[in-house]
Amino acid sequence: MFKTVLLLGHVRGIRIELHVSWLIIFTLFLVGMSAGLQQQYPDWPLSTAVLAALATALTFFASIVAHELGHSLVAIRRGIPVRAITLFIFGGVAQMSRDSDRPDDEFWIAIAGPLVSFSLAAGFGVLSLLTAGWHEALHVALTWLAFINLVVAVFNLIPGFPLDGGRVFRALVWKATGDARKGMDAAVMGGRVVAYALFAVALLNILVLGNWVGGLWITLIAWFLLNMAEGQGRAFDMRERLGSVRARDLASGDIPRVTAEQTLSRWVSEQVLPSGERACLVGEPRRPLGLVSLSDARAVPQDQWEITPVSQVMTPLEALVTVKPDTPAHEVLHLMTERNLNQVPVMDDGRVSGWIDRHRLMRTLELHMEVGR
Ligand SMILES: [Zn+2]
Repeated sequence: MFKTVLLLGHVRGIRIELHVSWLIIFTLFLVGMSAGLQQQYPDWPLSTAVLAALATALTFFASIVAHELGHSLVAIRRGIPVRAITLFIFGGVAQMSRDSDRPDDEFWIAIAGPLVSFSLAAGFGVLSLLTAGWHEALHVALTWLAFINLVVAVFNLIPGFPLDGGRVFRALVWKATGDARKGMDAAVMGGRVVAYALFAVALLNILVLGNWVGGLWITLIAWFLLNMAEGQGRAFDMRERLGSVRARDLASGDIPRVTAEQTLSRWVSEQVLPSGERACLVGEPRRPLGLVSLSDARAVPQDQWEITPVSQVMTPLEALVTVKPDTPAHEVLHLMTERNLNQVPVMDDGRVSGWIDRHRLMRTLELHMEVGR
């Protein structure tokens, strides 16, 4: 299978990942900048231009990671775990495990990124001044890095979702009104205004300036921002409406199970096919051993099914994704979507107390949304 995300490493337990789309922007940037430098400084040898562009691109990329680490480290200090920082075609994103509960947290987490970018801009600015008469290529690269970090900081402070400024705006409205809902609505509205303004800029570029490439690129960014803003608004709605629904309300007490010694062939023909349950707990709910699913079985050639016990292909308990009875519904849903899970056992004190199946979950959530509780 083609992997779309490359792992670069860990910082304080946070995965630093690169989405393949980022390679496109990196290549475009490298080629564009090398060509630009060659044109502007025709006396530079090609190697100097390419090397300067490469060093600048890599440092810029490190600056974006630093910006996201700014958000992440403040989030962690405020008790919100961060799973990963992913760099992709439009920049970087820190994946936090949940939304802030307090406007102060939201404010400081959001502002930390732009503050890091402003500091980097200032630092590169000073270095650029220091190297001015000494090394031309280094000076040019540092000046550019100072400028681009300033652009990143300022652009991100535009007050609309999903930009950092949108989150700052949300926190301020939330704090002023004491109402999380009003903060969210303001930030989503801000996001729409930003996106439509960008659409207008894009149109201007295409129709008036004849700049097709720039115009299409801005359209793409505007479209992306609009989608993200609307998406965050919807996610908030859902969290609010499902606020009191917990994993235990979504789980069925009817836990499909199979003994560890059962063969794949009997499990499939006697349980999966008649019941329609694609996965099953292995062992007793009081002493679960793992979970076996149809995809585990399919990984084994069918002529081996007669002699392969389910325990041999199951996901063992320690590797299993489980939830607690009081895990909020929106977290369960997020987990299942993100990890592409069809079922999640509810674990209570080492024993399985319930079973959440994706189809049942969707039906139950719809009902909860419909009755509003
Ligand atoms: Zn940011």
